[in-house]
Amino acid sequence: MKAVSQIFNQVVREGRKHLLETEAKTVCVEYGIPVTKFEVAKNEAEAVKLADEIGYPVVLKIVSPDIIHKSDVGGVIVGLKTAKDVQNAYGQILQNVKKHKTDAKIVGVLVQEMAPPSTEVIVGAIKDPQFGPAVMFGLGGIFVEILKDVAFRVAPITEAEAREMISEVRAYPLLKGYRNLPPADVEAIVQILLDASRLVMEHQEIKELDLNPIMVYEKGAKTVDARIILE
Ligand code: ADP
Ligand code: MG
Repeated sequence: MKAVSQIFNQVVREGRKHLLETEAKTVCVEYGIPVTKFEVAKNEAEAVKLADEIGYPVVLKIVSPDIIHKSDVGGVIVGLKTAKDVQNAYGQILQNVKKHKTDAKIVGVLVQEMAPPSTEVIVGAIKDPQFGPAVMFGLGGIFVEILKDVAFRVAPITEAEAREMISEVRAYPLLKGYRNLPPADVEAIVQILLDASRLVMEHQEIKELDLNPIMVYEKGAKTVDARIILE
């Protein structure tokens, strides 16, 4: 895909390995993977204008090639409900980032649709030196991070394999709905796994893909944060 290759070429030209969230999400969109609506603001007034267009509540995030873990440096502020909130958050994010890394190159501030809370899943891919790209699935939060409750398949995966991956994790019953969480749209997850598989097969320069978290709803899903690392 041309748009995707262009992004990867530019990242390489700039001597980077990590895509910005904006770049990673653009790659996702090209492969049909749903993401939160986003635009980059270059100043406070622009951030307010974009928030109005996207619709409240919004999330603001730093866009910088020097900041990989955005929330670690106060580079993410969620739940902004008014223009005033956006103005305050804009200044706050720049201040937080500058305090942490004075010379960080700032591309802008990402204004993004706030995804309502729901069941969180993770879709990832890594490139194994022996087997090539492999696709990963798990449920968000403690399930992947603490319990390592994940399913892997060597790419490319079939639709049947995508379904197996989802049903074999121990947390699978949670996808049927739990307490205040609605049943999750498993078909939407299957589609994201297949699209992720296609992406890493067609772009062998990808070392790591991490869609984390993806909010899954009764109908549809939305990727909230996307990371891509090149070899
Ligand atoms: P980091 O670079 O620190 O991983 P993220 O983009 O993942 O930054 O943001 C940190 C956290 O903020 C996410 O894990 C998620 O809980 C929340 N978050 C970020 N963006 C959104 C969004 N658009 N909608 C809802 N929650 C979000
Ligand atoms: Mg994240």
